[in-house]
Amino acid sequence: MRRVLLIYTGGTIGMGQNPDTGALEPLDFSQLVGNIPELASIPVAVDVHQFAEPIDSSDMNPQLWARLVEIIVAHYDSYDGFVILHGTDTMAFTASALSFMLENLTKPVILTGSQLPINRLRTDGRENLITSIEIAAARHADGRPRVPEVCIYFSGKLLRGNRSTKINSEGFNAFDSFNFPHLADAGVNIVYHDDLILRPDYNKPLVPHLEMDAGVVVFTLFPGIEEKTVRYILNAPGLHAVVMRTYGSGNAPQQPWLKEALLQAEERGITIVNITQCAAGPVEMARYSGGFLLKTAGVISGFDSTVECAIAKLMNLRGRSKDPQFIREQMQRPMCGEISLE
Ligand code: ASP
Repeated sequence: MRRVLLIYTGGTIGMGQNPDTGALEPLDFSQLVGNIPELASIPVAVDVHQFAEPIDSSDMNPQLWARLVEIIVAHYDSYDGFVILHGTDTMAFTASALSFMLENLTKPVILTGSQLPINRLRTDGRENLITSIEIAAARHADGRPRVPEVCIYFSGKLLRGNRSTKINSEGFNAFDSFNFPHLADAGVNIVYHDDLILRPDYNKPLVPHLEMDAGVVVFTLFPGIEEKTVRYILNAPGLHAVVMRTYGSGNAPQQPWLKEALLQAEERGITIVNITQCAAGPVEMARYSGGFLLKTAGVISGFDSTVECAIAKLMNLRGRSKDPQFIREQMQRPMCGEISLE
């Protein structure tokens, strides 16, 4: 029988109402298993590992990502795959981070959760959980895992984790990956798009990276953004990397002070990555002069990366090396399917 480790971190899926405040808060997972009788009837052996204190995922942080990596590493040889129950708010950040922290991953790590708690009649949690377990246990005829990468499964879609974004705070259809097709679609059958799924080298050992450098900031350009604000951000103490959310295909106002401020930041070793504010499509800095200005200011293209992924990748690379040249080079090549170069 296949074996899957279910790691419960918290999130709406496992929440109940606080009788005093009426607000939702995480419950102990053992209180929830009774609400999922289906767990006993699926042909997969499921063990549960619970965070000591389940959290709302707005409290997620790099130390807890490292904790997740340690749990996966400790149980790596004993399970066919892993399902992480996680709040939806920061699920795309965690999925992106884990994809870089688990180098040479050869087993499925599927994150899921729900918009309604699992003990509610109309919950979306039951299907999300059961299908995630099925995907984590799925294998090819030759015994290789069907999906050996970090993914989010939600509302019928299996998405590459580092391509995913939360798109809806209310609807069940809460995630999508605008710049990469779904890895599988679950209707009556689960239809896997095998040609899109990563094919890792099974001879390489899993290399965990626990260190993440949180000296990163995201800032969004808008018409009228002031020089003093930009300079203040770029001079923040401990800042090592910036995700700059630009217009359209990577454009910015053609102000000499902007180019100067960016060049000065880069001279101090700060890496600046250009990510579009659009939900879909890549950055192409040579297309308009507003993008070309950023290119000449030494800004790196984020290609078609999500913001969540750019942040996680910068944190991870800076955790591996303090060399800005190394970070610059790695940002411009895909490490685990997170960007398309054309
Ligand atoms: N605030 C919750 C969380 O992210 C929302 C959810 O799980 O859907 O933990």
